[in-house]
Amino acid sequence: MNLESFGIRLGERFQCECGKTHEIYIKKVLLSENAVNYILDVIEELNLSGSAIVVDDEITRKIAGIHLIEILRQNNIPVTEYTILKPTIEEVNRVARSMSNIDISIAVGGGSVIDTCKLASYKRNIPFISVPTTLSHDGIVSATASIINEAGQKETYPCRSPLATIFDLKILRSQPKRMIAAGCGDMLAKATSLKDWELARDEKNEYYCPTAARLSLMTYDEVTKFINEGGIDIAAFSMSIFKSGLAMAMIGSSRPNSGSEHLISHYIDISSRNPAMHGEQVGLATILMSMYHSEYNKNWWLDEKYQWYYIKSMLKKINAPVTVERLGVELDVLIDALVEGYKLRPNRYTILHKRPINKEEAVSLLKNTGIL
Ligand SMILES: [Zn+2]
Ligand SMILES: [Zn+2]
Repeated sequence: MNLESFGIRLGERFQCECGKTHEIYIKKVLLSENAVNYILDVIEELNLSGSAIVVDDEITRKIAGIHLIEILRQNNIPVTEYTILKPTIEEVNRVARSMSNIDISIAVGGGSVIDTCKLASYKRNIPFISVPTTLSHDGIVSATASIINEAGQKETYPCRSPLATIFDLKILRSQPKRMIAAGCGDMLAKATSLKDWELARDEKNEYYCPTAARLSLMTYDEVTKFINEGGIDIAAFSMSIFKSGLAMAMIGSSRPNSGSEHLISHYIDISSRNPAMHGEQVGLATILMSMYHSEYNKNWWLDEKYQWYYIKSMLKKINAPVTVERLGVELDVLIDALVEGYKLRPNRYTILHKRPINKEEAVSLLKNTGIL
């Protein structure tokens, strides 16, 4: 998977040119047709044994949860099943409580299930294996969990990446196309997030890891290839999502993949009565922020493939929303997100912190990109 060229080996530490020693906690990635059938091999390879908990939701238990439990039980592994309703901190605590006498935790699902199980496993210090059923964002192997806190708001909790991830191509090919399109939106965000990170390095002396940045950028290029080839090579897309998550996990921060475009999306999540999918919001915001960067960041990319119109063409090609109307978010919320969104994270310096945008400019930006 050409990670070696970055000096990265799964399950090992390495001395990086940024001056830090990075630990790659994830030890195993299995990607194949019917990969779920090989769960026992993965457990054995990780030297795990004992009883397991399988965490899923109403939908994913039918897609793969029941099948996985069957395989485990047929091989005399005692299994507890936990089907979650909502990714709340209360649910995380309930899952964690049902993990007493559990040696292995396995999450089968999209972001909500994986994040709930990831945080619960971290709290109980139980080895955690993820089986993603969708590829709608790049947080699958990240070391954070996005969970609804007591106040009813999404909060990012630091935890640990999975010990192993199983990409079952048969399952992943059957996910709705909308999920893949959203995943592409999240992946294309690097055009702006990496430039925001560079700005923070150059103007605020923020920590910067060239290895994580290069890895992250590589996945951007891979995803444009994926889209240009018709969006059908799910194996390649899975690996890109994985490597993208690794770029965050290795430095213990979402910094490489989350800049001004993500702050806009977070603001929409909080303020809209009708938020769209994370990757859809992020993708559309990336079009806006790439045009904004090109006007106010003298170190903006020169290459065609990182310009706003190219990003827009990519999103169009994969059928992700590129207009306010299609996104379905209220126009005033989107404008406020551009004007106010950066205040959500005063310490995550971006182009919007460097040069805040006013309402009139925000409307012009929306019009000039054809989003409005
Ligand atoms: Zn994201
Ligand atoms: Zn580094």
